[in-house]
Amino acid sequence: MLDVLKNHKTPTPDGSKGKGAVSIENVSITFGSGAEAHQAVQTTSLEIKPGEFVCILGPSGCGKSTLLNAVAGYVRPSTGKVSVDGTEVEKPGPDRGMVFQQYSLLPWKTVYENVAFGPRMAGQSWTEAGSVANTFLGMVGLKKFGNRYPAELSGGMQQRVGIARALANYPSVLLMDEPFGALDAQTRLMMQESLLEIWRKFGTTVIFVTHDVDEAVFLADRVLIMSAAPGHIIEDLPITLPRPRSSDMAALPEYVQARQHCLDVIRAESRRAFAEQNI
Ligand code: ADP
Ligand code: MG
Repeated sequence: MLDVLKNHKTPTPDGSKGKGAVSIENVSITFGSGAEAHQAVQTTSLEIKPGEFVCILGPSGCGKSTLLNAVAGYVRPSTGKVSVDGTEVEKPGPDRGMVFQQYSLLPWKTVYENVAFGPRMAGQSWTEAGSVANTFLGMVGLKKFGNRYPAELSGGMQQRVGIARALANYPSVLLMDEPFGALDAQTRLMMQESLLEIWRKFGTTVIFVTHDVDEAVFLADRVLIMSAAPGHIIEDLPITLPRPRSSDMAALPEYVQARQHCLDVIRAESRRAFAEQNI
């Protein structure tokens, strides 16, 4: 464990171990009603174990964000329920941290203030919140940039601040909605490796949404593939690549097979959806 974390008063990242079980039971989500009704997620059930790294992979518009938002508590399911550690999700809460594709930092606050914001809202003193902010800025390698404003940082750095900000509430589940989608390919690869490193230290459950097959296979313990809209899970693929992972693993047979399998499932699903639309 990092020294900075060992000395910290609030629950340590190790404290999140054993927490973060996510249960999605018969969840379907429909927006609007009557003639305007639009089903975004078809009945879906799924169990995620504490500390697991799960990627939800699917085409644009299939309902990935909607399903993730239901776990976050931003969207209420129309049927079924989502629970985290046995408690039904009814609204957003500090046990679930969210990182979006857009960096969503407060532009008028410094990096340090952005990360300290959550702990401050939770009632911690500036000293306590500041110590948490420094811990997590250290974890994402940005301690020296605490006094900068978000606009003064690159996209990758802003996204690392976003991750630090989400972790500063010590969530048991980290929800990530295409967090690296706006980054260039090289930065993205670096961010993926650095996220895995942070996850290894923090031990939190991660649900990571992406439409990128390589990203899903590289990161996940399990890849959940969603159908075309309205989405439901059509494949639950365990990824057995060893950890820690590095980008050179893309040449390993397990990687190549898993990637090909995902592509085959996605291709078959696109064909099915296309044929259905043409009836
Ligand atoms: P994805 O993240 O997979 O691209 P989304 O979950 O964002 O897909 O969207 C799934 C479907 O639900 C889309 O057709 C989208 O237009 C619709 N949708 C998402 N949010 C809302 C909302 N708040 N109101 C109405 N429709 C929505
Ligand atoms: Mg989305």
